[in-house]
Amino acid sequence: MTLRSILIHPDPRLKKPADPVTAFDAELRGLADDMLETMYDAPGIGLAAPQIGVMRRVLVMDCVKEEGEAPRPMALVNPVIEWSSEARSVYEEGCLSIPEQYAEVERPAEVEVSWSDPDGSPMRQRFEGLWATCVQHEIDHLDGKLFIDYLKPLRRQMITRKMVKLKREMARG
Ligand SMILES: [Zn+2]
Repeated sequence: MTLRSILIHPDPRLKKPADPVTAFDAELRGLADDMLETMYDAPGIGLAAPQIGVMRRVLVMDCVKEEGEAPRPMALVNPVIEWSSEARSVYEEGCLSIPEQYAEVERPAEVEVSWSDPDGSPMRQRFEGLWATCVQHEIDHLDGKLFIDYLKPLRRQMITRKMVKLKREMARG
């Protein structure tokens, strides 16, 4: 397994829709493993392939937060939201591509998602709570959308300016 570097917003690859996966092979399983390792290392609860510059419809997540509870790594390939609840919920979201910036985002409280696992087996599950927010946030990444796109333009621009500055500092080392 290899740690991949995470792209920081703004980056054109974070604004581009990702391509569907067609080959369920060892390379795909390696990608999912790398993404999980990178996510846990960050640490984060979700990561989408475009965030490491791979323009394919793959996301990983693990929203288990309780100390001592067993981790529950999930890798979703070609995920599709099949159903969203009328009920909505608000979570303070963050993003590994937008470090240290958080904002409340309202989304459907529950979603039903279908996907393939990295071996190509079809899966379908309903998510609620933090898992529902996380899976929607990550699927947005596959469509080139970031959580700051839900914010008012002024707030979004402010965050983007901070990220431009951060990237400049990181480039300087
Ligand atoms: Zn994100």
